[in-house]
Amino acid sequence: MSGAFEAGDGSAAAAFTRPELDEIELYDPDRRPARIDLSDNTNRWGMPPAARQALRDAEESSAVRYPALYAQSLKRALAEYLGVEPSNLVTGCGSDDVLDSAMRACGPAGGVVAAPTPVFPMIPLFARMNGLRFVPARLDAELSVDVESLVSADPDVIYLCTPNNPTGTVLPRELIRDTLRRSRALVIVDEAYAEFGGESVVDLTRESPRLLVVRTMSKAFGLAGLRVGYAVGAPTLIAAVEKSRGPYKVNALAERAAVAALTDGLAWVRSRIADVVALRATLRDALAQRGLEPLPSAANFVFVPINRAADVAAMMRDMGVAVRPFTDLDSDIPSLRATGGSALRISIGPRAELDAALAALDQARAACE
Ligand code: PMP
Repeated sequence: MSGAFEAGDGSAAAAFTRPELDEIELYDPDRRPARIDLSDNTNRWGMPPAARQALRDAEESSAVRYPALYAQSLKRALAEYLGVEPSNLVTGCGSDDVLDSAMRACGPAGGVVAAPTPVFPMIPLFARMNGLRFVPARLDAELSVDVESLVSADPDVIYLCTPNNPTGTVLPRELIRDTLRRSRALVIVDEAYAEFGGESVVDLTRESPRLLVVRTMSKAFGLAGLRVGYAVGAPTLIAAVEKSRGPYKVNALAERAAVAALTDGLAWVRSRIADVVALRATLRDALAQRGLEPLPSAANFVFVPINRAADVAAMMRDMGVAVRPFTDLDSDIPSLRATGGSALRISIGPRAELDAALAALDQARAACE
């Protein structure tokens, strides 16, 4: 028995936790409150009024009882929204949960996850958490990816994100087909931002049992705090992801609000999407007028290479505006190489928020010169 409970300093933890966890840093972006928060690509207009009403009307049993095991009513509403069957859908506690479960379902111990970089930062983390190795393949100067470089490590899982976080750029549909043809992998296409632009590949899930299209209600639908994500795929793939996900992952309040948003909130969501699309062009123009080179964006944010992004973002935050800095991105994108891999990602919000962000950006850049 001696020593079994001695690890007050945490040192003994490493002896019995999985060694790969030592290499994983806790995901911990700067989430301090800001007067104007354009750092996390959530819906700056709020949530559909129908979802808010559903939360107000919720009965006590929503908190007291367990929720549905596998969110059947949410699946029915999503099936209607997407034109698929409930058996084509798995839900989760945010799309993070679905991505994690999909890697667990299809990546054997020691397997490989490949993805173009810059990539959504959780992907290498989910890979490592599941005992998989992350192999990067870069976005090229044309903002696409060479399929050969994606498939060359014979990955078990390939992750493609379109529109991509953090760049906002889209991948052609034919590239996704080609990736399926030239690999034996599970191909995950993350469409977290699909409502804002680009062409969805949900329909391609009918062609391939290895394609999983992952989506979320955190962005266009304004429900990030409720944590509702889902994926579309062939029923056999969906069943495997659902098994590795486990029960009760969408809580009862979240399911209620999400169903209301999908049934009575769509007109609201669509008009906010139209706002985002118009203001995205306004923000890109304003950045270009300042001599910057924002990448084309089909998402609800704009990615703009800029020198000293961390310093600029810190100064903007002091002025009450939060945006997301990226530094040391290893990239073949010319405007990003020119800044040494330094860039800002700015979420689209209402006009007044963008004006405040631009004013703060101007001041911060002047101070950084
Ligand atoms: N995929 C992408 C590309 C994202 O940007 C995000 C959120 N930042 C997620 C998935 C996860 O979103 P959620 O878990 O809120 O559904």
